[in-house]
Amino acid sequence: MPPADLQPSFHVCIIGGGVVGLAGGILLRQQGFKVTVLERDLTLHTVRIQLHPNAVRVLKEIGVFEKMMSKSIIPVSIILKAYNTGQVLHQQFLEGPAKKYNNCPLLTLHRADLRQVLYDEAITQGVTIRHGIKIDASGVDLKGGTLTTDTSEIISADLFIGADGGESVIRTGLLGYKPKAIPHGKIVHRILIQEADIIARPHLKYLVEEPNIIVWLGPECEAVTYGLDGVFNIAFTWPYSTDPKDIFFGAQPVDLDEFRANLTDWEPDLREILSLGKDCLRWEFFEPITDDDHVPWVDDTGKFCIVGDAAHRGLPYLGQGAAAGIESVSTLAQLLGKATNQDQVRESLGIYQRLRKERTGHVIRATLKTGEIWQMADGPLKDERDRCFLQETPTVGYPNPLADPFFQEWLWGFDATKTANEAWEAYQIARFQK
Ligand SMILES: Cc1cc2nc3c(=O)[nH]c(=O)nc-3n(C[C@H](O)[C@H](O)[C@H](O)COP(=O)(O)OP(=O)(O)OC[C@H]3O[C@@H](n4cnc5c(N)ncnc54)[C@H](O)[C@@H]3O)c2cc1C
Repeated sequence: MPPADLQPSFHVCIIGGGVVGLAGGILLRQQGFKVTVLERDLTLHTVRIQLHPNAVRVLKEIGVFEKMMSKSIIPVSIILKAYNTGQVLHQQFLEGPAKKYNNCPLLTLHRADLRQVLYDEAITQGVTIRHGIKIDASGVDLKGGTLTTDTSEIISADLFIGADGGESVIRTGLLGYKPKAIPHGKIVHRILIQEADIIARPHLKYLVEEPNIIVWLGPECEAVTYGLDGVFNIAFTWPYSTDPKDIFFGAQPVDLDEFRANLTDWEPDLREILSLGKDCLRWEFFEPITDDDHVPWVDDTGKFCIVGDAAHRGLPYLGQGAAAGIESVSTLAQLLGKATNQDQVRESLGIYQRLRKERTGHVIRATLKTGEIWQMADGPLKDERDRCFLQETPTVGYPNPLADPFFQEWLWGFDATKTANEAWEAYQIARFQK
């Protein structure tokens, strides 16, 4: 436990009650801080996500592992297939890695279920959560060290943490301008199919009877599927305009017949499953954020900082967005827990920023690379990729980075507590040497 002179009276206010904000609330309470979470929405949205072992480890440490497992499915493997023939290019079994990484399996679950588990735990641990509280960028007062809500309430705290997602107003406050959303040139289409309808066709049953994450690798596109709660979730990443006038935010309905018409050369089994779909929604992807030293995640006085998508929004090709955010907020909480005065709070924020910019930058770049490799256009490069899949043993540079043992260990074996302890120790040594 940290010294009693700072933490109990030190009030941390987290803006955003997403997965990262709520996990942060619990982690900071566990370090002894007084914590309030401000969330603009009144309800939780249902999106299905994969949660990788590096995030599961943190949630195990928080104490919500059992509850989370009761809402999750543990996929047997990740299967990569050719989009047109359906040939299995690579199958990565997940039981071995789960054992290797602290008995932390890769899970699939509803983001809303995860948020609910975290919400309940946060309340139990004494976090104050206020719903329906929205902060606008104009309400962020860095100099005065306060926030003003959209209903003109002034909020004071010792530290404000922006966990308010990819459109973060705290990020805007730190930068002094609203960053422009730059189209990535891809969108995702999501189609949900009842598994009972698939099972009713015996020749398709094989796709759902065992829980697997299946990825069909297509030219400039990919389709990721997995089942959860009797529903088969299909997420198609698809090319889209980069013209700023075509930008859209949030979910848009799509004419499913029109979309299906693009898929005439895709594996017939996948097309047949898609024929069972009734509706489709799409979301636009934006260029991920990899900040250099000049972009602040922390203000000069040590009163504001950002975490999760607010700091390092990526793309979903490696299933790492929420995981990276959970890692970040765990690192942040561990470091803040070591501070015994305001100067050390500022120092710990600086260490957090340095550690997390470096690691999340690597994760984001690896994600982009994975997208390029998995979504290769037909041609000799793609043929060589497929030859590697089929003939090579996974090692550095293998086209499924999650199966490359070195990258996998770096990604899934991350330990935020150890990293924070080592960084703090190095800081203390440097301080005493001065
Ligand atoms: C298609 C897709 C698939 C994905 N799949 C995966 C996956 O499989 N695995 C994975 O790990 N990640 C995945 N991600 C990424 C993951 O969803 C995000 O990285 C993660 O949700 C970020 O969490 P967060 O808490 O930082 O932000 P958010 O989830 O965006 O939460 C921010 C919260 O802040 C609130 N808020 C925002 N602005 C304000 C304001 N001004 N005032 C008050 N409250 C505010 C919001 O209402 C929200 O509750 C995927 C993303 C996409 C788009």
